[in-house]
Amino acid sequence: MKLRTKLWLLLVVSTAMSMVLFGYSSVWIGKAVNKGYALFQLNPLAQSIVDSIEDGPEFGEDTLKRILDNAHEEHPAIRWLWLNDQGQSIYDTAGLNPTLSFKDLAVLMQQMPQRFLTDDDVHILTPATKDGQSYFLLLSIPASEMKQGEVYFMVRTYKSLLTLVVPIILSFSLPFLLAIWLFTSINKRIRKLNHALNQLNIQSDSPVVQLVDSSKDELGQLTQHYNSMAHRIRSQFAEIQQFESKRKLLLSNLSHDLRTPLTTMLGCAEMIRTGNYKDQQELQGRAKIILQRCRYMDKLLDQMLDISRQDADDLTIRLAEHNLSEIVRKIAVEYIMILDGDQVHLDVEAPDEDIHLPVDVSLIERALRNILDNAIRYGKDGRYLGIQLTADEHSVNIIVQDRGKGIPAEHHAYIFDRFYRVDSGRKGEGLGIGLAIVKDIVEAHQGSVEMNSIPNVETVFRISLPRLNLPQ
Ligand code: ADP
Repeated sequence: MKLRTKLWLLLVVSTAMSMVLFGYSSVWIGKAVNKGYALFQLNPLAQSIVDSIEDGPEFGEDTLKRILDNAHEEHPAIRWLWLNDQGQSIYDTAGLNPTLSFKDLAVLMQQMPQRFLTDDDVHILTPATKDGQSYFLLLSIPASEMKQGEVYFMVRTYKSLLTLVVPIILSFSLPFLLAIWLFTSINKRIRKLNHALNQLNIQSDSPVVQLVDSSKDELGQLTQHYNSMAHRIRSQFAEIQQFESKRKLLLSNLSHDLRTPLTTMLGCAEMIRTGNYKDQQELQGRAKIILQRCRYMDKLLDQMLDISRQDADDLTIRLAEHNLSEIVRKIAVEYIMILDGDQVHLDVEAPDEDIHLPVDVSLIERALRNILDNAIRYGKDGRYLGIQLTADEHSVNIIVQDRGKGIPAEHHAYIFDRFYRVDSGRKGEGLGIGLAIVKDIVEAHQGSVEMNSIPNVETVFRISLPRLNLPQ
């Protein structure tokens, strides 16, 4: 059953039940608390006296007197008056024996409910027949002897019913109407939320349905949660999609990057096996090619390993005090050899004094080599490679500079992202993971890495390591 139907049902049933409960409880409480005669008791009482007179064997003044005196004894508050059809009193328990015209009787019977509320007597006139003669029994009782607060006394005409019951119904209905209004608005908001949730399709290009609900209640909070959740799901899905397409690109690059050197190596190895080379120099040349390709493949496999390590968030660092000046000088010497004959001017600036810092030396060397390799691979055309080490009391900076083609400004924000490559279409240049690893390594040392590039002017990578006593 729908919530709305349930609510309506509940309201209708509860209204009906409240009315019934109101009726019964007022009767029961009236009975228990209000002493006196109820109006509905008086008619049967008068009728019972009339019956006992009508059914009596003989009809004389004595019999009448006895019956009415007995009734008066039993109900001392009531005055009993037996009248003939001319309105003459035959016996009056009050001893007044009046003669009443029909007009008088009619006046007595008039405006009963109002009489009940005043101090006037309440009268019940009951017709009787005895021995073919018509009589009347007039029962009179002071209003003060009637049950006070007897609601049903009031309900004698439709008019009084309207004046009494309609206000009661209205007052009963007001809280229900307010409840209906509240629940309807809640229901409307829930339906909106439900609809928005149904519409939420993470793959669709249509914009996410954003709900506006400024109220601070639970539903308002739920709506806010929905809005941020929908937004988050969409952006996370977009990220996953982007990541997935990068991963696919990586796989295709990788298979290309592995196959190309393999083909070259196979050709060289085949030439060596068949002895199909001119002289010793050519043999050396082929062997060198095989070695280079093997190193390249080894590096690729290393990077693959790094990717799976990054996936597992597994970058454990082992810190030990090291002299960074020495590390930078050692690596600079390595690159002097690598660049031998390449007409690249290598500019190294490292202070003579020792700069000690707790670092994971193999990781820091790797980060520096990644940046230097990139500078050579992408910036060789600038014919300049600068390596600089500076230190102040707060930090130690390693700066690598080249003057090659550089990185256009629109790529700067993503350059440290995994699998990001400026020229993603070109194969055989890398997997787009080197700088992401640099960032991970530097951040694991609580440092930072930044890049600035003006294409064809200069490209600068700066690693900053804080001079803190890092935890071991
Ligand atoms: P890759 O394995 O592709 O070299 P990296 O994460 O090391 O991956 O580098 C990401 C991209 O940044 C490279 O593909 C390259 O386009 C660009 N890049 C990095 N260093 C330089 C540089 N010194 N000059 C120009 N482009 C660079």
